[in-house]
This record gives sequence, C-alpha cells and structure tokens, in this order.
Amino acid sequence: MNEAAIHTILSRLLLGGSLPGGTKLGEHRLAEIFGVSRERVRKVLHRLGHERLLEIVKNRGAFTIEPDLREGRVVYEARRILESGMVAHLADHLSEAQLARLREHVDAEGEALRRGDQPTWLKLSAEFHFLLAEMVGNPIVQRQAHELIGRTIMLVKRYETTLGSACGCEEHRLIFKALAGRERGRAVKAMSSHLSLVETRLRPIVCDDAGPSLEALLAEAIAAFRAEQGEGASPRHEALAAPAPR
Ligand SMILES: [Zn+2]
Repeated sequence: MNEAAIHTILSRLLLGGSLPGGTKLGEHRLAEIFGVSRERVRKVLHRLGHERLLEIVKNRGAFTIEPDLREGRVVYEARRILESGMVAHLADHLSEAQLARLREHVDAEGEALRRGDQPTWLKLSAEFHFLLAEMVGNPIVQRQAHELIGRTIMLVKRYETTLGSACGCEEHRLIFKALAGRERGRAVKAMSSHLSLVETRLRPIVCDDAGPSLEALLAEAIAAFRAEQGEGASPRHEALAAPAPR
C-alpha cells in the first residue's frame, strides 16, 4: 500500500474519534498490518503529527490525542476568526457555478438528514466547511482550515451528545443564502453564530466502556478504503483527508 493510502486510512481512523486518547500507534505493528517498511509508516505518522491528528512523543512514538474541551474553545475561536474571513471574501468573489455547487451541497445535507442517514449527513456537514475553504482558492487558508476543522471533528465525535446536531443544517442554509445574496455582513454573522452554536452543543460524555481495539478499527478502515477504491472513489469524500503539503 502506498503512503497516500496509508495516510488516508489513518487520518479517517483518527478523525473517527473511536480510539481513546493516548492509544499508541506502534510503527512495528502498523508496518505489519500495511505490509510496508517501518520507515514508510514513520513518515506517515510524522505527517499526521504535523497535521495535529496525533501526538509524536520523542523516543516513545505516536499516540492518539485526547481532544480536550478547554483546548477546543481555543480551536473554535480560531475557526470563527478564520471562517468569518473566508465567507467575507467569498461573498464578494463566488462565481455562479460555485454558488450552484454550494446550493447542491446544502440540499444534499438536508436530504440526508430527512432520510435519517446519519453517517452521510455527518460527512456532508463537515464537507460544507471544507468546500468553503477550497472555494477561497488560497492554499494557506485551505491548509489552516483543514487542520482546525479536523481538530473540531475529533471533538464533536467525542463530545457531541445530541444525535444530529453537530452542524445545524439550517444554519448552513443561512450561510449559503447570505453568500448567494452577496451580503458580506450577514454571511460573517451567520458563520460566527453557527460555529458558536456548534461549540455550545458539545458536552462531556462519561464513558467507561472499552471500545474496539486499534487492530479491529484499522481492519474496518482498510476494508472500507479498499471497497471505495474498487467502486471508484468519490472526490467529494476525499475532502475528509487532509490535503498533501504543498
Ligand atoms: Zn457547520
């Protein structure tokens, strides 16, 4: 398996939030599972560390991060600052084709929610933000947005208590409407209050059950990745994996 594929599988696993914080991702074990050299695994782990999806501890290895609510407040604040700027820029610059794509996306979110298709809806609601970042057309903004959104996805997976409220679908529609009307101020307000609402919906969950093991989760993630490759990967869903460093 190549490095890009290993990176995609591991970043999805980490963003999935099913592994408890402090779980060690042993190079040796991963090299065996993926059938590649330890050097190759190490390279991927370092990239994930750089993207803040795991923590590299010197001389000890790579560990999953326990997303902490206090740190989460700082990340949400950073998202409000960055994404408010993004929508202010987009209100002035979006093309008609981009607006049509956004409308399609918001409709698809609503449709998934109506069907009660929770996994698709969760994926689409995160992708709404990735899509906005991509439309800004600035690689630095996009990379920062990816890192910040990735970190809050981990938080939402761990702390979201109300099913179906991670990203309010109607809130996304309000942002879209403001952008479609080229209303800069309203778009900034809608984004800022949306992210504040998402943040206030996070509550600590007390859970003592040991979840599935790293091996079991990894086997599942690899199987899902292979199935998707077989069917032809949808580029839309690739948005969940971080962009390659430029
Ligand atoms: Zn959202």
